[in-house]
Amino acid sequence: MDLQYNILEVAKYIGLNIRLDMNGKVEVEARCPFCDDSSFHLSLNRVKNVFRCNRCKETGGMLQLYAKIFGVTTKEAYSALKEKLPSAFQYAHPKNQALANVYPTRPLEERNAVYQRLLSLLSLSDIHLRNLRKRGLSNEAIQRNCYRSVPLVTEVRQSIVKKLLDEFKLYGIPGFYTDYNGTWDMYCKSGILIPVRNAAKKIQGLQLRLDDTSNRKYRWLSSNYFQNGAKAEPWVHVTGNIHSTSAYITEGPLKADVASHLSGDRLFIAIPGINCTERLPDVLKSMSIIRVAEALDMDKLVKPEVSKAVETIRNIVQSCGIEYVPFKWDSQYKGIDDYLCFKMAAGQ
Ligand SMILES: [Zn+2]
Repeated sequence: MDLQYNILEVAKYIGLNIRLDMNGKVEVEARCPFCDDSSFHLSLNRVKNVFRCNRCKETGGMLQLYAKIFGVTTKEAYSALKEKLPSAFQYAHPKNQALANVYPTRPLEERNAVYQRLLSLLSLSDIHLRNLRKRGLSNEAIQRNCYRSVPLVTEVRQSIVKKLLDEFKLYGIPGFYTDYNGTWDMYCKSGILIPVRNAAKKIQGLQLRLDDTSNRKYRWLSSNYFQNGAKAEPWVHVTGNIHSTSAYITEGPLKADVASHLSGDRLFIAIPGINCTERLPDVLKSMSIIRVAEALDMDKLVKPEVSKAVETIRNIVQSCGIEYVPFKWDSQYKGIDDYLCFKMAAGQ
């Protein structure tokens, strides 16, 4: 990580008159010490750590602000600040909630357009291809579902993001943000990107199946709290034959893709987490479903939080006027996908 300065700390230390209602904003206004400024013409940019007066046009960085006021060199300013104000020298981190300028999440059509284009610019690594094959997906299904590997090399990733910027604005698209240099980037952790689609096959968001599963296996491609970032929402994934009147409900988009593929394209609806059911009623009502089989993992038999989620789903399904059927299988296979994979292997 690169060392970054904090111009606001310096301005406060110097004693500049700063507008108090600017907390959390990227650009903070202050009275300019270089001209006879009775208003707040000096703009302090907390991301780029630069200042600029819109009246006298004085401009510079954190060290120059100090140096120009006290009539010293920037080298002297550096030594002075390092000694008197070590807190002005902080480590850059995009995930800085106090500074982040987060945008409202863009509508579905815009997210779909950006994500479709993003996936067209990415590829799937051999390791990830093998991982998906092992889950029971065919090459054809893997290609159709458009899984991709997260680009880990910064230069490669930023050049892909640059191509997106030629066509789209990325404000409000979960996963994208600007770094401390103001360069657009994409949230990056090694793993597989999984498109989360609605019944019309539009991409609502991207889930990330992490390679390092020591903390958790899945997360959204999201840039909440990042500069110019946006939040992913608990979108519900729909996969398989959307005209079917019977559907299965499970947890996790990838699991649903696998289970649908292994069951000959049956309709699967996947909530993104066992407690993420808020968007389920709208999805159920928007389709011509008359019967739902609940197919959450078999640890519903032993884990109270899962059996509670089963209850919630039953209530939602029934309140939509849809028939609810619990679906159980040999509990040595945890997920519906594991069970169907076993059945396929056994030729049943
Ligand atoms: Zn000025």
